[in-house]
Amino acid sequence: MTVSAGPTLDDDLPLDDDLLEARRRDASDPLAAFRRRFYTRDGVLYMDGNSLGLLSRDAEAAVQSALAAWRDQAVEGWTGAPEPWFTMAERVAARQAALVGAAPDEVAVTGSTTANLHHLLLALYRPRGRRTRLVGDVLNFPSDLYALEAQVRRAGLDPSRDLILVGDRDGLLDEDDLIAAMDERAAVAVFSSVLYRSGQLLDMARLAAAARERGVLIGFDLSHSVGVVPHRLSDWGVDFAVWCNYKYVNGGPGTVAGLYLNRRHHGLVPPLTGWWGSDKRRQFEMLSTFVPAEGAAAWQVSTPPILSLAPLEAAVGILEEAGIERIRAKSLALTEFLLDLVDRHLAGFGFRVGTPREPHRRGGHVALRHPDGARIAAALRLYGVVPDFRPPDVIRLAPSPLYTRFEDVWLVVRRLRAMMEQRLHLQAAVPEGTVT
Ligand SMILES: *Cc1c(COP(=O)(O)O)cnc(C)c1O
Repeated sequence: MTVSAGPTLDDDLPLDDDLLEARRRDASDPLAAFRRRFYTRDGVLYMDGNSLGLLSRDAEAAVQSALAAWRDQAVEGWTGAPEPWFTMAERVAARQAALVGAAPDEVAVTGSTTANLHHLLLALYRPRGRRTRLVGDVLNFPSDLYALEAQVRRAGLDPSRDLILVGDRDGLLDEDDLIAAMDERAAVAVFSSVLYRSGQLLDMARLAAAARERGVLIGFDLSHSVGVVPHRLSDWGVDFAVWCNYKYVNGGPGTVAGLYLNRRHHGLVPPLTGWWGSDKRRQFEMLSTFVPAEGAAAWQVSTPPILSLAPLEAAVGILEEAGIERIRAKSLALTEFLLDLVDRHLAGFGFRVGTPREPHRRGGHVALRHPDGARIAAALRLYGVVPDFRPPDVIRLAPSPLYTRFEDVWLVVRRLRAMMEQRLHLQAAVPEGTVT
């Protein structure tokens, strides 16, 4: 669906205190200059950076440079390109390690989120004795749930007995419930750092400590937190993690994913061995037996897609420049401002905030729940706001900190209010199979 600026809703914009406050905050925002590095569209309020982050000029230039190297150097690009392809994945991994609080040899940039999760579980989920269970939760992303179920079957077990999905409490998870499920029958637990619908941020440090204490291995899917929330995976003692790089990392649609493997597991030989997991110094000796790279790099399988890695390398550079602590501070300020405006300007229209109020329990987006959510999300697009909708009733608004202004947040709430007042959402058609 195309998105238009919807000028009718912005008629006679009042210069209210909230707008002045938004402008004050934008004027003193230390990250304000980063917005110009991204392709934003005039009049469009992009609130979907938790689904697909925007293209930056840096990432675009990196793709062009990779294309030029392919054109001009062909196979020599592997070692002779300005950013040599042969070691590009290792370079990006070492830089991403800082983003997730890991040692450089604990991170690999390879494959895709779901495939990496399968790969790690294939090695780490080894039911033995009474410890047969794989523990997850009902709110995890569908692809993760499919992987968990498939891995229980792969182990020769019955998901109805050995896949334990902890239930929610009105759309949120309680860490006590998750810990209770990590008992002496549990082998591995997998949760998402930030829940994709509600935006709830789990206490990963606490969960990891509880898992260690109970002899359970624990892994996290960081897809909704990497690039917007700081992590300390090594300090927390997390066993493994996976993430995608196309949400807050802004690496491009379907770009190469990340995986983390704690050093205590580095002796494991990856079950899906491929030549790209070889020790780089030996790879071109073309040995008939596998000599693994040290650490997480061994978990690479195949030749990386360079045209997809190149923009990621540039995107990670932007995150380094901005600094993850400053990004988190701005993100929390944006979501706080959004929640405050929602409370004061949207009361009485049937919305319910689905995101925890406490900053330490909140990721980068805000969930507004409304029985008419699908139509409201569709109508917002007609008026120049790009949110997304997740069934049954969740409208997600993600003010991605590198390119969203406080004034944008104010405008979103203002358009939403005008729309609800004029009942314009009732005229919107819900697009079929609303995936966006
Ligand atoms: C976005 C996301 C994915 C996406 O998986 P792909 O394999 O990259 O398609 C998986 N899990 C979570 C929790 C996500 O947020």
